[in-house]
Amino acid sequence: MKRDMPCRPLQVIAQTEPIARFAHESFHLLDRDLSQDAVSSRTEWKTHRGEHSGSTLVCASCSHPITSEEARTHVDGANRHTFANPAGHVFTIDCFAVAPGCLIFGTETAEFSWFSGYRWSYAVCAMCASHLGWQFRGEKRSFFGLIAGALVEKGSPEK
Ligand SMILES: [Zn+2]
Repeated sequence: MKRDMPCRPLQVIAQTEPIARFAHESFHLLDRDLSQDAVSSRTEWKTHRGEHSGSTLVCASCSHPITSEEARTHVDGANRHTFANPAGHVFTIDCFAVAPGCLIFGTETAEFSWFSGYRWSYAVCAMCASHLGWQFRGEKRSFFGLIAGALVEKGSPEK
C-alpha cells in the first residue's frame, strides 16, 4: 500500500482560508487493520475526563469523545495552525496536549513534519477510525494537531 505524505510544509496559509476539505482523500487508513498499529488510550481518557469538567470535543463523524477544550495547548506560539500538504489540501489544525479518544496509527516519521523537531504519526478516532489529525512527538513534549471541523463540541455532557 502506498501512503501519501500528509505533512510537507509547502506553504503556510492565512487562517482566513477555508478549513480543509476532503481531508480523508489523502489518506488510506481504512484498508489496513488498525488493531495492529493502534495504541489504545481509553483508560487515560477516563482519568482525563474525571479531572476536567469543561467542554468535551467529540468526533464529528461518530460523537466519540476525543479531547476537551482544557487540553488546548500552544505550539510555536499559537493554538491554531494552517498548512497545506503536497496534494494541495489545506489543513487547519488545533493543538491539544492530550487526545485520549484518538488511536495513534502508522510508523512515526520526521519526514516533511510541519513542526520542526517533531516526528508525526496519524491520529484517528478510536471508535470509527476517521482521520482526525496527527500526533507530533519531540524530545521534550508531544501534542496532537487535530483538524478543525473533525471535532465538534459536545456541550455540557452531564445534566
Ligand atoms: Zn469517530
